[in-house]
Amino acid sequence: MNTKNIKAFGTEAIDTPLHAMQIKRREVMPHDVEMQILYCGICHSDLHQIRNEFGHTMFPIVPGHEIVGRVTRIGEQVTKFETGDLAAVGCIIDSCGHCEYCEEGFEQFCDKGVTFSFNSPDKYLGGATFGGFSETYVCNEQYMLHIPETLDPAGAAPLLCAGITVYSPLKHWQAGPGKKVGILGIGGLGHLAIKIAKAMGAHVVVFTTSPSKVEDAKRLGADEAVLSSDHDQMKSCFNKMDLILDTVSAKHDINTYLNLLRPDGSVVLVGLPPESLEISAFNVVHGRKSFSGSNIGGIAETQEMLDFCAKHHITADIELIRVQQVNEAFTRLQKGDVHYRFVIDMASL
Ligand SMILES: [Zn+2]
Ligand SMILES: [Zn+2]
Repeated sequence: MNTKNIKAFGTEAIDTPLHAMQIKRREVMPHDVEMQILYCGICHSDLHQIRNEFGHTMFPIVPGHEIVGRVTRIGEQVTKFETGDLAAVGCIIDSCGHCEYCEEGFEQFCDKGVTFSFNSPDKYLGGATFGGFSETYVCNEQYMLHIPETLDPAGAAPLLCAGITVYSPLKHWQAGPGKKVGILGIGGLGHLAIKIAKAMGAHVVVFTTSPSKVEDAKRLGADEAVLSSDHDQMKSCFNKMDLILDTVSAKHDINTYLNLLRPDGSVVLVGLPPESLEISAFNVVHGRKSFSGSNIGGIAETQEMLDFCAKHHITADIELIRVQQVNEAFTRLQKGDVHYRFVIDMASL
């Protein structure tokens, strides 16, 4: 297989800061598209993986799975992209393509396993796939997405993971007119969930532990913002919510939020708390309530989400950084000190 050397930012070990390195990308095959990367978002799971917190990191690692760029080369069989197109790569870059889940557009559930855009076995080059903290990306056109030209490409980058992670469950659990949708937590995921749920037509109630975020929730479009430490405010939401999207990635009390649901309501987890969460049987039995979870979305649904965001002028609120600031950004991300997503300007590489 023909390859070329490109610039990237990554690390060989948990305790080594990210730094400039060279990696190999394959040359385009007949169905491949190559893009020059313009912007790459920083997601909390990038941080987990460079620290091997999920236990399956393959070093060296180049993170990044919220990737936006311009198409620079296409394989001879490519039909969906042309050179110069604004394009994107999210979490998924390959799947078996013919199991029942792939056929229904749920590549994220592929029976044979999905290839992720970084830290997955690379079936062409060996080793691990390398993510978007790099100069270029190459993958099969079926897994590449179109970015509408009306979207700001830097603000659109976080839609590729954070955006689809909240869009998919909001759609699946039918957020829309007449529905009261709670958003638990305002971070990278939560701030996009507010904007998307509002654009879907739902009445949006934000729950936050931070008084400083109450005003911000309203600025982002929330109809109500509730301080979760305020007993009276919480009581006023009791039995009122149709759906609560829970974006919190630390241990927290789910039972409090199950109590806010109407009968048949659901609390849907999209954050990834490392500890198990306890649920009282009474809180789901009474009122036929559900506690569920959701993780990213398929390729067609990701494209649908990008088109929805273009139509409703939705992008992430970002802090644009240079790639040389990435270690500092990870330290701040760990502390929750970002409004609301770091995006790297890859021209700095
Ligand atoms: Zn992510
Ligand atoms: Zn499959």
